[in-house]
Amino acid sequence: MLTDKIAVVTGASRGIGREIAVTLAAKGATVIVNYNGSAAKAEEVVAEIQAAGGKAEAVQCNVSDFEKAAELMAYVVKQYGRVDILVNNAGITRDNLLMKMSEEDFDAVINTNLKGAFNCIKHISRQMLKQKAGRIINISSVSGVLGNAGQANYCASKAGVIGLTKSVARELASRGITANAVAPGFIDTEMTAVLSDAVKAAATEQIPMKHFGSTKDIANTVAFLASDEAGYITGQVISVDGGMAM
Ligand code: NAP
Repeated sequence: MLTDKIAVVTGASRGIGREIAVTLAAKGATVIVNYNGSAAKAEEVVAEIQAAGGKAEAVQCNVSDFEKAAELMAYVVKQYGRVDILVNNAGITRDNLLMKMSEEDFDAVINTNLKGAFNCIKHISRQMLKQKAGRIINISSVSGVLGNAGQANYCASKAGVIGLTKSVARELASRGITANAVAPGFIDTEMTAVLSDAVKAAATEQIPMKHFGSTKDIANTVAFLASDEAGYITGQVISVDGGMAM
């Protein structure tokens, strides 16, 4: 159980982040449901959590903005006194072959997926050090482990998240703070709904289990890493991908 824990989940208005927020709240955590543009959807997540007897608040923040991420963390600490669990889930894709990829699309993906995680960790690390406790869980991707044609920006950002996770884990381990990455394979969300049937069929072919995963598969893994039971696990990349990256 995560009773009385304070959790921040970035990009929790839909998809994997939404499921993580609902799952952590069901285990007793008070969840800050971060979003960037989808205010109404974030409020729906909060309403769903509250209807089930849980505690949650939606807070807008573009995590790629260093100062705004600082404001988000300062707000949560002021309101709730601490942050026990930080889940860096916010992410975007801007897929294209390298030859056609614009500088803007490269920067946008790195700034959200990698710098966003850095910003949030950076601005909560002092508080977690004071607490002598904390769980940092970064959502990477099987693409960051294997690489993927048409996703140089995305794969670089997700491989970067793995390096960031391991460095943070080494820096903070002696102070009771763990940092781990979860690397999902293909999961049914709006992010993968845009893929053509041909791309989805080719992807399924690469998955030993022969089907996409669900948001629940990822949320359950995150909930475990956030729990007391996972206290001796740090610096790891947990693949939840139906066997893709074995
Ligand atoms: P999604 O359905 O597209 O949702 C993305 C979420 O990120 C939304 O809540 C969005 O909020 C938020 N977001 C985007 N930019 C943001 C920013 N600058 N600041 C704050 N929030 C921001 O994506 P998903 O499929 O659930 O993916 C979630 C995470 O899992 C991502 O990191 C993704 O790379 C990773 N992942 C997904 C898959 C997959 O197959 N789906 C596989 C591997 C890894 P707004 O709508 O408010 O902008």
